[in-house]
Amino acid sequence: MGKKTDTCSFCGREIRGMFKGLGDAYICYDCIETGHQIVQEQIAEMTKAAGAAGNSASLSLDQLPAPAQIKAFLDQYVIGQDEAKKYLSVAVYNHYKRILQPAGQDGVEIEKSNIILVGSTGTGKTLMARTIAKMLQVPFAMVDATVLTEAGYVGEDVESTLVRLLQESDYDVAKAEKGIVFIDEIDKIARKTDNPSITRDVSGEGVQQGLLKLLEGSVVNVPPKGGRKHPEQEFVKVNTQNILFICGGAFDGIERKIAQRLNTQVVGFEAAQKTQDVDKNNLLQYIAPQDLKSFGLIPEIIGRLPVLTYLKPLDKTALRSILTEPKNAIIKQYKKLLAMDGVTLDFEPEALDYIVDKAIEFKLGARGLRGLTETVMMDMMYELPGTSTKQFTVTRAYVVEKLKKSGRLNAA
Ligand code: ADP
Repeated sequence: MGKKTDTCSFCGREIRGMFKGLGDAYICYDCIETGHQIVQEQIAEMTKAAGAAGNSASLSLDQLPAPAQIKAFLDQYVIGQDEAKKYLSVAVYNHYKRILQPAGQDGVEIEKSNIILVGSTGTGKTLMARTIAKMLQVPFAMVDATVLTEAGYVGEDVESTLVRLLQESDYDVAKAEKGIVFIDEIDKIARKTDNPSITRDVSGEGVQQGLLKLLEGSVVNVPPKGGRKHPEQEFVKVNTQNILFICGGAFDGIERKIAQRLNTQVVGFEAAQKTQDVDKNNLLQYIAPQDLKSFGLIPEIIGRLPVLTYLKPLDKTALRSILTEPKNAIIKQYKKLLAMDGVTLDFEPEALDYIVDKAIEFKLGARGLRGLTETVMMDMMYELPGTSTKQFTVTRAYVVEKLKKSGRLNAA
């Protein structure tokens, strides 16, 4: 291929050793190198542009679903909880409007609307946050506040909250910075005593202080592989300004604080009438920021979680619906699994009622439904595939038998 001496068709220099093309075309090694560099730069720019287009494609102002659409999407997956869905839909809508709106001239800065969901375990808090992330196609990470401790103590630094989000975004920092983080069990880092100065509260107030800077929006150093920070480690800088934080917690016993507040509020001649209006069976609906403070969240954290709403305990009707109605309802999943083996699966309504009754009896809530159904289905999923059975109906008697056999009916 090489040629002793000739002129490069690109730079015109006479150089030894060149590549020959068709006809009299030659190219020298320098020009090949320069050409290579130009191609590399162009590829990099194209990739960047495609990335930016990809990001905005999933999130752009005109494509942003309206609150009612967000709620309608949630309705497909989450049963009941209308109040929480409404609050969440508006907050999420405002949050992404804020991110997508180019900085205005009017000086009006829309503040971040992080959310706090209060409700017993298994009522759909995580499900709701996860479903919204799915709809908006933004990365979603869930972390448990109980593993967090103040920097320097055994446990995880608050920055580790963002590690999962980075992982979910394939370490694309720009993508992570538009994601949603769900912090579960936020009530477990409540201040233990009213007087924080007596002893150091490394897993309570200290963690709340640490979380504060994430919630209000700042650039934090995240150890990309998680774990504790140490000096020689490389960090990824993540700006939390546009990350939406949704916190959830059961806040066991907060009803007492609400009741106390409602009672102290209703003094004077209107008292009797006002107390009558209070629905004592569902005090959570009156939850207000000051109740979170009485429970032990510091005012600064409460201030950074301006959207406060509650989830109702799931009653029998709700649990029954959860089994069959959501888009990926448990029963639909098992039907699909067996359909793949060519078996049509049916459930007697009484069989489903029995599973719901047991979930309530054992105080397992929605979380128990899957476990109980799995126990019922186990033998069938083992035995049916590969046989000539094409149809199977799960009866109440079948459910009772399987649960009895597993010993689950003796659960405390
Ligand atoms: P938590 O409130 O403790 O975050 P989760 O959202 O994790 O509860 O709910 C646990 C499981 O229970 C979910 O995976 C879901 O299957 C089911 N579940 C709970 N609440 C609902 C609901 N309102 N609608 C549909 N499914 C629900």
